[in-house]
Order: sequence, then structure tokens, then C-alpha cells
Amino acid sequence: MILLDRVTKTYNKNGQALERISLHVEPKEFVIIVGPSGAGKSTLLKLLTREEKPTTGKIIVGGIDYETLKDKEIPLLRRKIGVVFQDFKLLPNKTVFENVAFALEIVGMGNKEIHHTVPRVLDIVGLKGKEKRMPRELSGGERQRVAIARAIVRQPRILIADEPTGNLDPKHAWDVIRVLEKINRFGTTVILTTHNQEIVNKLKRRVITMQDGQIVSDRANAEYRS
Ligand code: ADP
Repeated sequence: MILLDRVTKTYNKNGQALERISLHVEPKEFVIIVGPSGAGKSTLLKLLTREEKPTTGKIIVGGIDYETLKDKEIPLLRRKIGVVFQDFKLLPNKTVFENVAFALEIVGMGNKEIHHTVPRVLDIVGLKGKEKRMPRELSGGERQRVAIARAIVRQPRILIADEPTGNLDPKHAWDVIRVLEKINRFGTTVILTTHNQEIVNKLKRRVITMQDGQIVSDRANAEYRS
């Protein structure tokens, strides 16, 4: 599903953000990426979403070789990859329903299909009945679940969650993590970055630890050791 072969990223002459990273993620895996600030986690995710290009090395995601990827194919790639961020990035003047529907409108889905699809996805993230709420009327955990609904509504094969619980209290953080687990059970590959040690320890998933632009450990069913 995701293959990185000796990928290096140098933003400027002051050093390498990523240094010869090699990584293989299978379809339907749930992978947690941990590591101190500046380790290169965000850079790695930005390479996957094609926000950044590698300086050297090979990246293949869902059968797409990024070396031969044309700019006009990037929107298609982004449909295969859903992303959620720490700060939700919802549209404040749109309702819950409209926030999720927007992701379908921009790819040209018709009204009827949108009205069929959005409620199903809101049900998956546990927000049935909150369609008409505005983001400001929701808790942080609910807002993040709207963001997840928006990220998965086009049925991406990969969901990247970059510190999705960073702004949440423990209860809401777990609500969000449970939703990620559910989406993973449905068959989506999940890549999660987090600083939350308790979440890492309880999830018992594959944990990739990064430091100074390198992968320093990669363990299955791992607990966090800082
Ligand atoms: P993390 O997400 O683990 O905190 P980052 O990927 O953000 O790590 O950063 C890795 C390194 O790359 C850091 O030294 C950071 O300063 C540098 N870096 C990240 N983004 C940029 C950028 N746009 N321009 C220059 N340097 C950057």
C-alpha cells in the first residue's frame, strides 16, 4: 500500500529532514508514528500527500509511483488519501452536514447521492442527529469526528491522522481513536501520529519511532518507550 525506498528530504542546506527512510505499510495496517518534535514526522506525511517532493528516493502509494505522477493526477491521488489534522480545519460557517458534503460537491457528486452518503458517514463517526449543528456548537471531539467524516466520505484507501487528539481531553481523544479503529476495521489503512503515550500503549499496534530524520525503531504490538 505504501512503499518508501531510501527517501531523503532536504529543505535547505542546514540539514536533512529525512535521511534515507525505507518503509513498507501493508493494506489495512494501523501504524502509529511517534518521535520528538523535529524528528521528521510531518515531513514524512507531507511526502505521502505530495505536499512536498522527496529530494531523493522512491515513493509508491496505492500503486502510484510518485516519480511519474503528473501534477494533474494529484487530485486523484488525494482522493485515495484522507487527512485529518490536530486543528480540525472545518469550515466555520457551514453545518456538520455541509462540511462533509462539501468534500463530495468539489468532486462533482450529485445532490441525491450526497444526501444518501453523508448521513451514513456521520453515523459511522457517531454524529447521527448533529447534521444541522455548526462547528462552534460542538465539542472538540465532535469537531474532530466531523473532520474524520469529511476525510473518509470519498472512501480513501489510506487515512492519515496527524496528531488528531492533540487538542482534546482524554475522553474525547479516545472517542476519536475508537473511530479510527473502526475505520481501520472497515479496511482503510490508518497512519496516526501522536505524542500521547497512553494511546500508543493501549492500542498495541505497529509503532514506528522517528528521530533526527531517521526511523530508529519499528515494532509490532509495541508500547512507547521515551
Ligand atoms: P516533526 O513533524 O517530527 O516535528 P518535521 O517534519 O516538522 O518534524 O521537521 C523535521 C525537520 O525539518 C526539522 O528540523 C524542521 O525544522 C525541518 N523543516 C520542516 N519543514 C520545513 C520547511 N518547510 N522548511 C525548512 N525546514 C523544515
